[in-house]
Amino acid sequence: MGASIGIVTAEGISAGLVDANRKISGRILQYPEHGGVADDLTTLPANKIAEKLAEIILEVAAGQHVDSVGLAFPGVIRGGVVEESPNFPQMKGQQISKAVCTHLEAHGQSPKVVVSNDADVVAAGIAATRNQLDHLIRVWTLGNGIGYGRYPSGTEIWEGGHTVVTMDPKEKYCSCGGVGHLEGIMGYRSMRLRFLDLEPEEIFEQAHEGDARCMDFVKLWHRALAAATASSVHMEGPGKFFITGPSARYLNLSMLHRYMHEMVMMSTLQGYVFEIVPGGHEIAIIGAAVSAAMEQPATVTAAP
Ligand SMILES: [Zn+2]
Repeated sequence: MGASIGIVTAEGISAGLVDANRKISGRILQYPEHGGVADDLTTLPANKIAEKLAEIILEVAAGQHVDSVGLAFPGVIRGGVVEESPNFPQMKGQQISKAVCTHLEAHGQSPKVVVSNDADVVAAGIAATRNQLDHLIRVWTLGNGIGYGRYPSGTEIWEGGHTVVTMDPKEKYCSCGGVGHLEGIMGYRSMRLRFLDLEPEEIFEQAHEGDARCMDFVKLWHRALAAATASSVHMEGPGKFFITGPSARYLNLSMLHRYMHEMVMMSTLQGYVFEIVPGGHEIAIIGAAVSAAMEQPATVTAAP
């Protein structure tokens, strides 16, 4: 592959140039500069977000020719369009790849711009850095939202973070507004909404110290992930599940395995494995860039 830029939007933006060996060359550029949350991103109008992304892409390119740009964005992304994005409601329906291309062309760059879901690029990054581009890769990203990344991503939706894991009508903390969702239990934001008096760190600490309310929640948190994973196993078969993201540090793998054993009883489906992989922007940037470089140009077919 030629030079490709991976750019990932989450709480902030991070971007880097990925070379033919699928390694980041040079430094990772971040907005805000030292990482963290960019408060202005959620309030910026859609055209300003596209302009900001183009600005960062041009800065990473630093004047050299770029073949492709892989842009990762949270939400349901299809054909370069953000169809749905609970965290960026102003982006709903936006043709983000077209908008970014227009800005880039004005500055003499005309790369292929491919937009992917932010969790799918983590799966693609794991596949690319482990030479497993021929494998099915599934990954849970545990952060403010809960992402379900799948490689290859295809044209399906795979909003696994919104898997229904409970029938309790009181379970309504998911950012999308849906009842009973995995993210409504596991998401960082959802945990803060549920425990108005405790930060997520304190919930897990106090569970460790024996607090009954926190212990019950920690069990629910693990059961929820087991339930969503069991659903994936029952739909697509067993295999390896990667887990990453800031909240992966709260994970107790033996507890997760115990609940999985209760939920997946058919012996042919029990060959599942979990692996926690370090977070960080690098893997997502590589995944975004590799996804863009591999994407075939869209074939235009005449209307019937
Ligand atoms: Zn939801």
